[in-house]
Amino acid sequence: MPDGPAPNADAPVYDWDVTTAGDRRGYIDPHALSELWFHTGTACNLACPFCLEGSKPGDTRLGLMTLADVRPFIDEALDIGVEQFSFTGGEPFVARDFVKILHYAADRRPCLVLTNATLPLIRRLHDIERLKRTRHPIQFRVSIDYLTADEHDAGRGQGSFAAALEGVKALRKLGFAVSVARQRKNGEDMHAVDAAYRDFFADLTGADTPTIVSFPDFKPPFSDGAVPEITEACMTTYHDEASRRDFMCAFSKMVVKQDGQMCVYACTLVDDDRQYDLGGTLRAAMERRVKLGHHRCYSCFAYGASCSERST
Ligand code: SF4
Repeated sequence: MPDGPAPNADAPVYDWDVTTAGDRRGYIDPHALSELWFHTGTACNLACPFCLEGSKPGDTRLGLMTLADVRPFIDEALDIGVEQFSFTGGEPFVARDFVKILHYAADRRPCLVLTNATLPLIRRLHDIERLKRTRHPIQFRVSIDYLTADEHDAGRGQGSFAAALEGVKALRKLGFAVSVARQRKNGEDMHAVDAAYRDFFADLTGADTPTIVSFPDFKPPFSDGAVPEITEACMTTYHDEASRRDFMCAFSKMVVKQDGQMCVYACTLVDDDRQYDLGGTLRAAMERRVKLGHHRCYSCFAYGASCSERST
């Protein structure tokens, strides 16, 4: 491993620079920090078996963040032109400081929050209502895996579907924009499923069509995805300058708390591999070339997978 960072002991082993066949590995050079994500911690009130983060009650793989942890990164991001702050977990509302964090962030830039919209959010609705008065808007993206309680609750636990719908309705009633994240099945008709979601949410909230974000199975942390490797030639044959700029690692970064230290990862999808820990500051991270060796990079390469709702 000539000049790459050290791998995580639990992650599959591969050469950062060179593929198994000896070709130079494909890469992305970041061009801007338009969106900064925070992973608020892998503790969650639910324990979904498919969670790409392996989140569950009491999980500490990634630590819960405090306002003091987050503030320096928000301030640094503002200095280098960030346009949006986004938050994911775990369940962000499990973090005690999360409402304070959102206040601080949304007074400075628009925010997006990924949530399961169940008990941790529902019992803080009174505090969340006060977030309507921040200088910039806050949008929520709620996970509704499937449109039936049976399918949704099979992964998330009985009652989760009804609780999430209650959360969605409460957020809409408070006037927040809500988008939806769903699971993508192999071979599905994406347009038909998205249309069914739009109808369902129009009936539920009477609101405009929400944005629907769907994801393939990213597998749990530390999985070996057994996908084709991406070479430099792949990145010029199948992609061009414009499409390379759409990779999340080209225009965003994610801050996590690991072993008590705050660190900046390349994107929201790779926090299980230390090779993607790009340093302790955003400026340092933005200087680093990102090699596409993680199995989830293939989803970005082949399908344009992205947690972002921004276009670059
Ligand atoms: S998972 Fe996607 S966004 Fe993240 S480093 Fe790989 S290619 Fe970039």
